[in-house]
Amino acid sequence: MSLGHGDLRELYQEVIFDHNRSPRNYHEMADANRVADGHNPLCGDQLTLYVRLVDGVVADASFVGHGCAISTASASLMTEAVKGKTVEEVEALFRDFHALLTGEAPEGRDFGKLEVLAGVREFPVRVKCATLAWHTLHNALTGEAAPAKTE
Ligand code: ZN
Repeated sequence: MSLGHGDLRELYQEVIFDHNRSPRNYHEMADANRVADGHNPLCGDQLTLYVRLVDGVVADASFVGHGCAISTASASLMTEAVKGKTVEEVEALFRDFHALLTGEAPEGRDFGKLEVLAGVREFPVRVKCATLAWHTLHNALTGEAAPAKTE
């Protein structure tokens, strides 16, 4: 049995709904050493991203915030996808993921569950929703280590 195009789209939407309803890694992180805020004024999506970077590897990633289903699901899927990856691997994945959303994905790249967001390429405004978490992660990884929290 093979999935028709319509079935596949339904499956993708179900994954997005699921990650929006119950976002994975949705919590603050006390021992994060990289933190960044992201805001997509076009849609009102807002998130804070936490990363624990150990020897150049994303040991843990989490987020809190509020926004549309696409931005929340994308952040949830992203935190799952980047754990255990090096900063270089994360940056390469971001590049390819962004290409996927604009219809220029490199051939043969396996995006795993991130593939479910490919449908937003039909809605250019939604691309910003889907990439907000990634831009924020990029800022977190390339910025200075976050200062210790005082509260
Ligand atoms: Zn949005």
